[in-house]
Amino acid sequence: MADIMTPKQRSCCMSKVRGKDTAPEVYLRKALWAAGFRYRLKSELPGKPDLILPKYKVVIFVNGCFWHSHDGCSKSKLPTTHEEFWADKIALNAVRDKRNIAELKRRGWRVAVVWECSIKNRMNKKHTVDKLSSWITSDTKWFETALVSVVIT
Ligand SMILES: [Zn+2]
Repeated sequence: MADIMTPKQRSCCMSKVRGKDTAPEVYLRKALWAAGFRYRLKSELPGKPDLILPKYKVVIFVNGCFWHSHDGCSKSKLPTTHEEFWADKIALNAVRDKRNIAELKRRGWRVAVVWECSIKNRMNKKHTVDKLSSWITSDTKWFETALVSVVIT
């Protein structure tokens, strides 16, 4: 198994194993709480959204760029060994994500996808939370964090 993943990708997978408590998700949770938003964490909704704000009819997914295939993002690059295996796995995730989001929208939920790369550093983090916060209180149905092309550290 040793050659399948780079250390970076492995740490990405390990954070998936930890499940609910990835660092970007914890950050987002705390920031929204501090901004006065109240949410639920456990849900049986399609795709098991990470945060649910029933008051605003909002669900939020915090998506790992690799696992959920963030389009155009450098963090979503497939490993060069066993590429087909990963491509299949990731493609399956993408199909599942699309289906879940469509179903949530059908049920009247407003859906936000926050890509992990948008909350990886201090500047991006704050920008993302600001954008997300104003979206939550808006009437817009869909929110997705922009692709982070310039990494400010
Ligand atoms: Zn990304």
